Amino acid sequence: MNADARIVTKKRPEDFEKMTVAGACVAAIHAATREAAVPGTSMRELDAISAEVLREWNCRSSFLGYHGFPATICASPNSVIVHGIPDGYKLREGDIVSIDAGAIYEGWHGDAAYTVAVGTVSDEVAKLLEVTEQALWNGIAKSRNGARLGDVGHAIEQTAAPHGYGVVRDYIGHGIGRNMHEAPNVPNYGKPGKGFKLKTGMAIAIEPMFNLGTDQSNVLDDGWTVVTQDGKLSAHFEHTVAVTADGPKVLTLPEPLLVGETAPALPVVGSQ
Ligand code: MG
Repeated sequence: MNADARIVTKKRPEDFEKMTVAGACVAAIHAATREAAVPGTSMRELDAISAEVLREWNCRSSFLGYHGFPATICASPNSVIVHGIPDGYKLREGDIVSIDAGAIYEGWHGDAAYTVAVGTVSDEVAKLLEVTEQALWNGIAKSRNGARLGDVGHAIEQTAAPHGYGVVRDYIGHGIGRNMHEAPNVPNYGKPGKGFKLKTGMAIAIEPMFNLGTDQSNVLDDGWTVVTQDGKLSAHFEHTVAVTADGPKVLTLPEPLLVGETAPALPVVGSQ
């Protein structure tokens, strides 16, 4: 998405603390929806579960009412890339579903997404999910003071390359803070050493979307739902990351996690 706020803002430690609460709430939504993502569960039920978690955490949804978005979360099954409106569709054995959740705590946002397999899926589909999540962590590991967003995007793109996945370019990550979408734009592609320079105090949401087929997308008539043009499956993983003096800190986990120069191996503690 394009940034709503054009200025890149630096956050104070106390701002990151509020974003950490918002992020932990998002992690709790992830855990609750992941557990409920079984055959027979509808997208609307996942939305209701998410609304309940937000209430428990004294948070509000970043998405509800955003440019008129009508639900608490985005629920995007199978060939839906992003921005699926939770509806009556019930999960079936062998589906995948992407859940994107945003929470606001005392005016500060956290935003994260994951894709989960419902029951058993083919090795090809399981690999798509694993590689997309690994790409996210490879991008996170590059998100440090003095690095360029081209370093982040390149790390993500290179993770997809050996597998021939379609790397979605129409939708990208973003700065985040008092607004869900702020500058800078955070593409899932780029050249090392090029692009916007990250500095301590910034926060970005990194969100690779990889497709089994083409990277091309269409928006459905509802004005929101983004689907792959060829109907093939799509995976989406996202975290909100603070650039700190000690390195990248992932805020959208049950506990914030500092990441070293090398991406952690999957599964990352707290994200499953
Ligand atoms: Mg986002």
